Amino acid sequence: MSAPDERVGRMEFLLGLRRRGISDQRVLRAMDAVPREDFVLPELSDSAYADQAMPIACGQTISQPYVVAYMTEQLDVQRDHRVLEIGTGSGYQAAILSQLAGEVFTVERYRTLADTARARLAHLGYDNVTVIAGDGFKGMPEHAPYDRIIVTAAAEAVPEAPAAQLAEGGIMLLPLGEHGGAQRLVKLTIGKDGLTRQDLIWVRFVPLLAGQAREL
Ligand code: SAH
Repeated sequence: MSAPDERVGRMEFLLGLRRRGISDQRVLRAMDAVPREDFVLPELSDSAYADQAMPIACGQTISQPYVVAYMTEQLDVQRDHRVLEIGTGSGYQAAILSQLAGEVFTVERYRTLADTARARLAHLGYDNVTVIAGDGFKGMPEHAPYDRIIVTAAAEAVPEAPAAQLAEGGIMLLPLGEHGGAQRLVKLTIGKDGLTRQDLIWVRFVPLLAGQAREL
């Protein structure tokens, strides 16, 4: 059982997401169901439901809840979808996606983060998520094609290999722009007539870097 004061925090959390325009009930239910306190550093668990990004291991960050909810809503994930996430980080976005998708594959360049996220997701029972340590610039060819691809690190250009692993009718969402500054969240849709690009909100993500991390 959650402590009463924590419950209030979670209720405010959902109200805040609604107030900021998140309206897809499936997304709101997923945001309600996943215990964010299990994905943040233990010393930050008291503020797990604050609408802010937070540091995790390896100098990386867990994204702000609003951005997670917004990206999930824009991705329009259905129950029969196979989803690829690039940038596992804490595993929080993957856990949210696991509530909506058939299968989720997620790749992380830091082995420590990948191992921690895998154990955490298994412990919480999110058994339709597969976490792989590797370079997301290569996508994950062994399970392609994907109905949806979400990149949760800032890319300076659309990474070609993952884009080529998108199924027809698929959607790819990524923060596009310079490292260090703000990026534009971009939605790419692959239709019969080729690629359509839609520019969404401004966001700030840590950089998408090539290769697996050398330090653990
Ligand atoms: N989605 C995460 C937050 C992502 S932070 C969450 O819910 O917690 C961005 C992550 O992308 C970082 O962990 C970083 O190490 C990872 N990353 C950066 N470049 C990458 C690449 N080429 N392949 C895989 N992961 C990458």
